[in-house]
Amino acid sequence: MPTTDAAGSRAPGTAAPAERCPGCRSALVVHERFPTWCPSCEWNLLPPEPAAEHRTPRQQRRAERAERREEALRRDVRARSEQVFKLVSEGGSDLQDGTTAAAYALAGVVHLVSLTLLLLGLGLVAGLLLPGWPGRIVGVILLAVAFQLRPRLGRPARDGVLTRAAAPTLYELVDRICEAVGAPKVDSIAVDGEWNASFGVLGLRRHRQLTIGMPLWTVLSPQQRVALLAHEVGHCVNGDHRRGLWTGSALNTLVEWYRLTVPDRTRLQEGPVGLIVTIAYALANRVLWVLNRAVRRLVLLMNRLWLRSGQAAEYRADLLSVRLTSVADTRGMLTALLHRPTFETVLHRQRTVPRRRPAAGRPAAPDLWQSLAEAVRTVPPLETERRLRVAGRLDSAVDSSHPPTHLRLRMLTAVPAEQHRHPVVLDSGRSALVEAELAGRRERIAVDLL
Ligand SMILES: [Zn+2]
Ligand SMILES: [Zn+2]
Repeated sequence: MPTTDAAGSRAPGTAAPAERCPGCRSALVVHERFPTWCPSCEWNLLPPEPAAEHRTPRQQRRAERAERREEALRRDVRARSEQVFKLVSEGGSDLQDGTTAAAYALAGVVHLVSLTLLLLGLGLVAGLLLPGWPGRIVGVILLAVAFQLRPRLGRPARDGVLTRAAAPTLYELVDRICEAVGAPKVDSIAVDGEWNASFGVLGLRRHRQLTIGMPLWTVLSPQQRVALLAHEVGHCVNGDHRRGLWTGSALNTLVEWYRLTVPDRTRLQEGPVGLIVTIAYALANRVLWVLNRAVRRLVLLMNRLWLRSGQAAEYRADLLSVRLTSVADTRGMLTALLHRPTFETVLHRQRTVPRRRPAAGRPAAPDLWQSLAEAVRTVPPLETERRLRVAGRLDSAVDSSHPPTHLRLRMLTAVPAEQHRHPVVLDSGRSALVEAELAGRRERIAVDLL
């Protein structure tokens, strides 16, 4: 019977025996590098769970309960995602509904709590509310907490930033895309080692930074790169409120609340302590646990309130990509996002094989980028399909900011294409210039990754 890595055990060159799906008896296609699964009945779609370490019955029950809760959440998010898909594909424009207003209000409550803590702390330290030193000590503690909870506006990355002078062709391309989608120009472009790309408006000065992940960029064709950039800068014009000053910083503060209230389970294992300390400790942990649960609920609620407008914004950004390139290019770009596992495999392989000594004058790095491009190019369609379905199945309930990829792909064709007025073309000449401008970063990132 085939297992998840059926291939490894078979001697190279031997023909695969005609394997049949144990679920529905249809013929299976076996591919050496990838798990065998059945597209008809989804047998073996998800790799088998690793055997759990020994658990007491109580731990077992708790784990099962947690798993059920998680699954219920996923189901809920899936149902809502389908709903948003339906609304957007039917041209629903009225997506600024009550939930968006509620999200703003919730953000307001979060900021109000921070402000109250700050004022209380100041009042206590100044001795206005409670005379004497105990009040002042409490005040200092409150100020420290208020400082932790301050609105965080993010900070533009300094590492890996390309200046306009160093990458004129890339900036010119991004400027053209910004103009085509009606967005203001970006202030800086950073290049990092992520399987991703992102856009942020950061800091008090609201610095507009575009970040390009070199690994993802490497496996895209020139027009898919344009589609990727169009999606990212499209976030400025697609009515995405999650990134706003008011709500974005509130969400960051909530995450900070969550971090601050995680109960500490380590202390008591360190050694014998007095009874009173033990009791106080258990009590404090209990209070933290309750707070932590409550904050988790708030984060989930915030995500739930954002889901509709956030996912609709993502679809709009994808449709901007289509407008500037084509359905095929945008589809190619979205599909590439699924291949992070291939990137991780290539990285792992390159890190573990004994490194060949770089020949004199030749950098060791290009190996990584060539292997990566080759590995992604040779992922068979059946494996791409598997990854697509797995993503749909396991989409995290907590980060539902992006619609599942299969829905994003479906949306590309569900909405009647507008006239392609001015598709932005990255011709081979300019593409080569951009690559030359990125060469330095490419090498640096390869060294950092390996
Ligand atoms: Zn089957
Ligand atoms: Zn996006």
